[in-house]
Amino acid sequence: MEKRKRWSLEDVHQYLSEHDIRISLYRLKIFEYLINERTHPTAEEIYNKLKKEIPSLSPATVYNTLRFFLEKKIVQLVNVEKNEARYDATLSWHGHLKCLSCGRVFDIHIENLKLSGLEGFQVYEKHLDLRGLCPGCAKIKNIKEVEYD
Ligand SMILES: [Zn+2]
Ligand SMILES: [Zn+2]
Repeated sequence: MEKRKRWSLEDVHQYLSEHDIRISLYRLKIFEYLINERTHPTAEEIYNKLKKEIPSLSPATVYNTLRFFLEKKIVQLVNVEKNEARYDATLSWHGHLKCLSCGRVFDIHIENLKLSGLEGFQVYEKHLDLRGLCPGCAKIKNIKEVEYD
């Protein structure tokens, strides 16, 4: 993925307005978190991160706001994890790698991926989901293997 600068609250305000979304503090802060952190968080993770800064926030508000963002198509669900809903504000075509050790979900840049055999089909969704180890965990795993071999 390309390197992007952090979005300011003004950037988020403008983006939500452009998508005909009425502005509220919760919507601003939740979208700002998603677009800047890019960790593909669950609703619970977002709640835990924002509750100190916004004491009036409730888990239900976070959940409902994310549902609303999904309806408005400014966030998407990440498919790499079937057992928990993770959210992504990056909408361009990219893949995900789930690290099986630390559990983090990373964005994977896709270039020149060729599919064949699709003549006559209509495709409405496409996902590229990878599972493995992130570089940090792969290093530790290799070191352990060396130590205990
Ligand atoms: Zn990892
Ligand atoms: Zn992503």
